Amino acid sequence: MTSEGFRVRIHRGANEIGGSCVELRYGDASVLLDLGRPLWAGRNDVVPLPPAIGLGEPGSLPLALILSHGHQDHWGLVPDLPPGIPLYVGKGAADVLRAAEFWGAGIDLHESGHLTHRQPLQIGPFTITPYLADHSAYDAYSLLIEAGGRRLLYSGDFRGHGRKARAFEEFLVDAPADVDVLLMEGTNLRDDEQDAESQATESVVEAELAQTLTDIDGLVVVLCSAQNIDRLVTVYRAALRAERNLAVDLYTAEVAAATGRDTIPQVNPQWPRVSAYLPLTQRVRVKQAEEFTRTEAVKGRRIFDEQLVDEPGQWVLFGAFQAQVARMLSSGQLAGGAVVWSMWDGYLKDARGQRFVATLEAAGVPLIHHHTSGHASVDDLKRFVEAVDPVTVVPIHTEAPQQFESAFGSRVVQRDDGKWWCV
Ligand SMILES: [Zn+2]
Repeated sequence: MTSEGFRVRIHRGANEIGGSCVELRYGDASVLLDLGRPLWAGRNDVVPLPPAIGLGEPGSLPLALILSHGHQDHWGLVPDLPPGIPLYVGKGAADVLRAAEFWGAGIDLHESGHLTHRQPLQIGPFTITPYLADHSAYDAYSLLIEAGGRRLLYSGDFRGHGRKARAFEEFLVDAPADVDVLLMEGTNLRDDEQDAESQATESVVEAELAQTLTDIDGLVVVLCSAQNIDRLVTVYRAALRAERNLAVDLYTAEVAAATGRDTIPQVNPQWPRVSAYLPLTQRVRVKQAEEFTRTEAVKGRRIFDEQLVDEPGQWVLFGAFQAQVARMLSSGQLAGGAVVWSMWDGYLKDARGQRFVATLEAAGVPLIHHHTSGHASVDDLKRFVEAVDPVTVVPIHTEAPQQFESAFGSRVVQRDDGKWWCV
């Protein structure tokens, strides 16, 4: 391998979903795209940084780390990074992660700058142009990187059936031209179709949830990641269609506020149908940290147990209420109600998930699934490839790189983790 030209090395992701990290090099300069924690890593597992130049291998530090979006499998190793590497990410993504930090699900990235849709950023010899992507993480980007006259497009995580489907369609009609390499996620390419997540649109999820909310007489608790802003909007709209009000936990309320977008449902007077309901664990966390400004911020807009008991059919709860469900069952709040699982089904398969399913079953409270994938269907992946029309397609963020060729043809080139290649 020569030291000339624009070179790439996938550190993790060539045949794995999660833990994504890609190193780009031109001359003596390098940048990193994403620095994820693998999905298989438990909370206390130590995962070493990828052996990139300046990290595991001798050489100067990367000029920058660019994060495509705020999912932990794309940023989770950031706390282990040595100081002095500037970090770039979307402002909305960074603000959401900052808001989530107090709740144990985020981080203050102390970023040096922000990614803006179609605004090129110059970092050493690299010109990086972000393209807003439709994804279940807020403020996500695909990244075009140019160096030495060559062009690599890193898709990041994306889909075409979310609340920002228009961003996807706009990308397709005005995609970057002359791309040499498309490094594309393939989460929904699988060897076993049974593992595939639903790829219904968020609008379909909204309609089906609205039907559930109409059919069920009692309280409905929707369990979902607070950082899935698309789903928050979906659940809010479904609640209104079913003539219910929405109550979110404090973590969700703070994340929604952090978006700074008045089009996103929030716990404030502009959103009369949205309230806050604080699970015990969150009240305890606020009390222990003595951060009472957090509860002050939703004062006057909270609902309490009595309202849920008196008028259960008027409410939908959204957020991290899983630990609260046992209490709700024993207090009778969920009599005639239902729990909606609005996340990946895989979370229900471990011991904790199985216990949760069994508890609901024993109580006779239905567990109803309303969810759709954060990742593109195979058809939308094909549309993406056709629009970009790259010379080669390289798989990443997939468990089935061997499926790429049958889906996208002979321009697919599989690259292994840890090996350099040229753009
Ligand atoms: Zn993601």
